[in-house]
Amino acid sequence: MGLFDGRTVPDIRLPPPGPKAQEWLRRDAAWVSPSYTRLYPLVVERASGCVVQDVDGNLFLDLTAGIAVTATGHCHPQVVAAIQEQSERLIHMSGTDFYYPQQAELAERLARLTPGDGPKKVFFCNSGAEAIEAALKLVRWHTRRPRVLALLGAFHGRTYGAMSLSASKAVHRRGFAPLVPEIHHIPFPRTCPEGGWCRQGCRWVEELETTLLRRLAPPEEVAAIFIEPIQGEGGYYPWPPGCLPALRKLCDRYGMLLVADEVQSGIGRTGRMFAIEHYGVVPDVICLAKGIASGLPLGAVVAQTHIMDWPPGSHASTFGGNPVACAAALTTLDLLEKEYLNNAVARGEQLRAGLLSLAERHPILRNVRGCGLMLAVDLPTPELRDRFLQLAFRHGVLLLGCGEAALRFCPPLCITADQIAVALRLLDELLAQLT
Ligand code: PLP
Repeated sequence: MGLFDGRTVPDIRLPPPGPKAQEWLRRDAAWVSPSYTRLYPLVVERASGCVVQDVDGNLFLDLTAGIAVTATGHCHPQVVAAIQEQSERLIHMSGTDFYYPQQAELAERLARLTPGDGPKKVFFCNSGAEAIEAALKLVRWHTRRPRVLALLGAFHGRTYGAMSLSASKAVHRRGFAPLVPEIHHIPFPRTCPEGGWCRQGCRWVEELETTLLRRLAPPEEVAAIFIEPIQGEGGYYPWPPGCLPALRKLCDRYGMLLVADEVQSGIGRTGRMFAIEHYGVVPDVICLAKGIASGLPLGAVVAQTHIMDWPPGSHASTFGGNPVACAAALTTLDLLEKEYLNNAVARGEQLRAGLLSLAERHPILRNVRGCGLMLAVDLPTPELRDRFLQLAFRHGVLLLGCGEAALRFCPPLCITADQIAVALRLLDELLAQLT
């Protein structure tokens, strides 16, 4: 009968939150930090693939992958087996002070997989924000330059360096000043300054050079520019064609490093192993986390060997690159290469086509965007978007928001054609109820 007794999904038997969920919500409210951003009261008991069961036995179709994390699906049997096998042999020894094979094996694999032919090295940590912190320290260390550029609308995490680089929502920064100094934010070129998408290089880069670098941040003092190849939390915005290649040239001209935050867009999410590959650009540093270990905490910074030249003791993390997380990551990469990267392309096309046709039928949906299984579509207002997320939840479809008023689609990369068809059908019905 399988894990969920052959039930169709979604299957809502007790309107959520049911009685058991309500009891957990009460305890959570009493004891857990109020800083989290839960929009609807889902209390999870277990999950498999793209199906999540709540504590009252309701089954939900998960189009969030736990915020773009469970790349191979929830509790993939091969990932679970790798975790079990590794945890019976060695759970922890700390790669900071000792060696174990899993870390070196994963470092070699990531170095070979990431764009760029030259030799590379990998620093391991536990989260996206930690990967960004490490990259921020690394670029200042290597260049001995103080300033860093980042994009308006960017989200890089909530620790001090990552928060200081972020500029997607004021709530992330309000009340936490003073932040890390010498970080300058530049507008994200959602559309080209000349209007529409530019195809021949990018005027945006020229403007960056003639305004910011000439007036405010002398380029010889700029260590790096941090970019997301697709802005994530800020709204799932890809870059206009031409901009990133032009930015790469600008970086080369002034010796600034290009850091790609692939925490959300990397590890197959966009149908390529790394989203930056869509633009034909090779960054100097790549930050990874989220999907890399299908749900175990792991972050990584991959940089060219001559850039990752910091001395022993300058940066490290007790838990970073833990052997169990590394084993889960190695199996995740196997599964992506064997099957799920292709699936992300095919299912991404299906979902995009489905969203475009929903947008034709429901004019309140606008601006379908993204690549692979990293897609978004706008509703007219944040209030309507939040209402829709709650409505979808009550009918058994888990979605997240991003940007001002967008619905975000980042399902596990193992999602099936049937599951996408079911989700689109339900969304169609629910959109009709919304208006
Ligand atoms: N960078 C990007 C692009 C992200 O989307 C996120 C999280 O959403 C982060 C960094 C921070 O990652 P974490 O929450 O693991 O610290």
